Amino acid sequence: MKLATIAVHAGAPEGANAPLTTPIVQSTTFRFESAEAVQRYSRGESGLFMYSRDENPTVRAAEDAVAQILGAESCMLFGSGMGAMTAAVMALVSAGDEVLASTALYGGTYKLLRDVLSRFGVKARMAEPEGLIDACARGGAPLCVFESPTNPTLRVIDVQAVARACRSAGTVSLIDSTFGPALVQQPLALGADLAMHSATKFLNGHSDHLCGVIAGRKELVERIRKVAGRLGAVIDAHVAYDLLRGLKTFGVRIERQSASALALARWLESEPSVKRVWYPGLSSHPDHDLARRQMSAFGGMVTFTLGSKERAFRFWDRLKLIARAASLGGPETLTSLPILFSHTGYSAEELRRAGVDEGMVRMSVGLEDPEDLIADLRQALS
Ligand code: PLP
Repeated sequence: MKLATIAVHAGAPEGANAPLTTPIVQSTTFRFESAEAVQRYSRGESGLFMYSRDENPTVRAAEDAVAQILGAESCMLFGSGMGAMTAAVMALVSAGDEVLASTALYGGTYKLLRDVLSRFGVKARMAEPEGLIDACARGGAPLCVFESPTNPTLRVIDVQAVARACRSAGTVSLIDSTFGPALVQQPLALGADLAMHSATKFLNGHSDHLCGVIAGRKELVERIRKVAGRLGAVIDAHVAYDLLRGLKTFGVRIERQSASALALARWLESEPSVKRVWYPGLSSHPDHDLARRQMSAFGGMVTFTLGSKERAFRFWDRLKLIARAASLGGPETLTSLPILFSHTGYSAEELRRAGVDEGMVRMSVGLEDPEDLIADLRQALS
């Protein structure tokens, strides 16, 4: 079955006269008929629930659905993408370990490594995208965290090569695939051990909930689940329901966003006032050939630079239809300035290593008609 079809139906109850959509089980706790039933629950007997911080029927249905869409053996949902990333790192590394990470990372993940985990004796070893495969091959780290496409520079990393190098070095590979949701790419099929998503973005797709995903090999997801229950960054049943609802339109949203993003990237590239455009679907993109091999669509994110902070700020302030806002992956086209949003608090050297320049604008392309979006970009650039 095609992914867009799976996304419409996954997680729905089955059986005669079953409801078409998944009921929201709004209970923090569940009754047991006997001590023997609790023991059966503790042995992992399916169909039993104890407490919604550990498991909840609506959440479980949404986890099954997301696992199917991502081609994963197992999946756990979280209250945010950062909740998912934190739980994964805390479950897979210990004090004294190094985490190997790409310098081209979402600022929140970078700051988790730089400012928080460093206080607990976990060191980050950073490698620029070009050097990541060699750094993985050198080994010595239990976990490698990387993104593809990267935020906000949209560089494409060779997932298969990173996963292979990690596997031979005994390192778990964890890709943040937020910018490349299913239908754009399937990193687990390329060999990554774990895929993380900020489901706040394209998976839920409506700019109305925070949620996160860890999916991949069952043994690893279950290790993370045990730690996640202690950390408590779990997803609420209402949010899990809304995620299932968002997934029903996943196929049409991604198709439309990818097509509009390509049209906008091409238009921006033809504009003399735009210094450079990064979109993996453009033949001018440094990783275009790899993107064509590894991705089935090029996604809804476009980044461009106007060359200076002053020009970027002036353009940004003049936008009328396109919103000035953080986040991405929703129906509304949003723009952010990385130096004020995801990469605020970076030193000049950290910005250089992340590939971020001061004139950069990151755009998440929504569901509006691309002609209206181009008209707004044109008037703001003029
Ligand atoms: N990863 C990427 C690539 C992101 O862009 C974001 C948020 O912008 C996150 C992770 C964090 O996700 P959340 O905001 O759901 O915690």
